[in-house]
Amino acid sequence: MENIRNFCIISHIDHGKSTLADRFLELTGTIAKEKMREQFLDSMDLEREKGITIKMQPVRMIYHEYILNLIDTPGHVDFSYEVSRSLAAVEGAILLVDATKGIQAQTLANLELAQRQNLVIIPVINKIDLPQARITETEKEISDLLQINPSEILKISAKQGTNVEKVLEAVVNKIPKPEGEEGKPLAALIFDSKYDVYKGVIVFARIFDGGIKKSSQSKGIYLIQGEVEGEVKEIGIFKPEMFPVEELKSGEIGYIATGIKEPGKVKVGDTITTLNSKIESLSGYQEPKSMVFLSLYPKSADDFKLLEEGLGKLKLNDAALTFKPELKEGLGRGFQCGFLGLLHAEIVAERLKREFGLDLVLSTPQVLYEILTNNNKEILIYTPADWPDPATVKESQELWVKLEILTPLNYLGQILELLETIESEHIKTDYLGTTKVELFYEVPLREIVTKNFYDKLKSVSQGFASMNYQILDWRKVDLVKLDILILGKKEEAFSLIVPEKEAQKEGRKIVERLKEVLPPQLFSLPLQAVIGGKIIARETVKAKRKDVTAPLYGGDYTRKRKLLEKQKKGKKELKEKGRMKIPSQVFLEVFKSR
Ligand code: GDP
Ligand code: MG
Repeated sequence: MENIRNFCIISHIDHGKSTLADRFLELTGTIAKEKMREQFLDSMDLEREKGITIKMQPVRMIYHEYILNLIDTPGHVDFSYEVSRSLAAVEGAILLVDATKGIQAQTLANLELAQRQNLVIIPVINKIDLPQARITETEKEISDLLQINPSEILKISAKQGTNVEKVLEAVVNKIPKPEGEEGKPLAALIFDSKYDVYKGVIVFARIFDGGIKKSSQSKGIYLIQGEVEGEVKEIGIFKPEMFPVEELKSGEIGYIATGIKEPGKVKVGDTITTLNSKIESLSGYQEPKSMVFLSLYPKSADDFKLLEEGLGKLKLNDAALTFKPELKEGLGRGFQCGFLGLLHAEIVAERLKREFGLDLVLSTPQVLYEILTNNNKEILIYTPADWPDPATVKESQELWVKLEILTPLNYLGQILELLETIESEHIKTDYLGTTKVELFYEVPLREIVTKNFYDKLKSVSQGFASMNYQILDWRKVDLVKLDILILGKKEEAFSLIVPEKEAQKEGRKIVERLKEVLPPQLFSLPLQAVIGGKIIARETVKAKRKDVTAPLYGGDYTRKRKLLEKQKKGKKELKEKGRMKIPSQVFLEVFKSR
């Protein structure tokens, strides 16, 4: 244990985490230089495009007489619990800051989580080779933030390798050896997992107490929170590819193939122990909680099975993703899915598209709401379809979050204007160095999720401002269910839960949008927004008059009349049957425009 150092790198996207990890791999000879391809540990292209880090592969490196275990943290607000568990598995963190950008929100958010785990922080400024590097300003930001002397901050170029060895030396010298007791029963923390058809769930774990041997007589293991038994099929380390070993000792990081075939029972933050041991769970465990819900429908009904299969496969490595089948008129069969946040939803949808070739319609996202009924029953509302008879609703509640925005001072004005457009309460404003400001607000999660706040923030600040949020609590809000009638018939897929004070505006927006995107029919189409039977907005799509008699010129009057009558009858029938087939493009356009 004396010679083990467990650490991670925390940074904002693009500040150079993967590049620095590459240099570590080379320097320690973990990967021979000729085998090296750029960003070796990175697993997905998606992350660059979405501006997030999904996950990189953990790795064990040998540096002089030391064993260095580098693990990754997912770099986005939606995953802050997962980040906190990765951080709980290590003793130190490299805080990596791009000299051309300075500190950004994800850096701050992750630093805060790291400090909560009492990790040793090694501050590093990267990209000093670039002419536009603002080294002194960045130094000032970091030294203010950490209350340290600027000379303690390492300055490197991960790309060119400058001073990278000094970072490894700091890891060895400043980060403490892991704690844990060899003699105690096994206690290991799960910080990630993946599914293998043959070996079952493979958990990535940090061993705290005890140890685990492949050849031990009793191979039984137990996951305390998941209440599920497993069997040690294989244990190993990350080289970075999985490499079987005989034993993992206290303080080490590695993987355990558990044989468990129900991935839903294996969650990040759970504690692994041996069967029959009576230890307590390691602290900090939380159930993954979906807070944003939206429905996914295949554009082609034939793809329903493929969508089910795709969601099932993604779920194997993503305990926070939930889904259940649902049926909506107009859209057909699809799935109601739960996500940690909007970005989590986007990643899942994008992967379904790329990895399974699915063409999807995504409903408008909704946050989780809670209502209290007249007989004091609490009901969680995941979709508008869950909304009960309004007469039975006594009170409704929504989640509020603490929102932190970090921005260069020159965008402050635009950002304050943007904040004016959402419901928010200002808490405080902090200055960071001389060029940046950090804003703290409390806002309803709904405002961030349904108003596309993240994208707007990026756009008003040309990508320079960044944000982060954490759930605070439930607060009272008057909610109503808004329904949309087309041709007098309710189209459930367009229903929304909205605050009463915004219902009028929202209703108007949807019918106006529908008017633009619905293709005209042979008859006029009334569109109405309704709350509990009361119409709050209406529009009409005018009929397109198709001249059925056009091909008949000349005087065949009786045939002309017959055709016109046939047309009239057709219109009447359609009106009576009363449902028109709405093209999936229309759903897409309306959902997108909110
Ligand atoms: P990550 O998102 O934190 O993993 O960042 P990456 O390691 O993928 O780096 C983002 C971009 O910055 C890539 O284009 C890298 O080549 C580049 N980069 C990383 N470190 C340096 C550096 O020290 N100097 C320069 N000039 N570019 C760098
Ligand atoms: Mg990366």
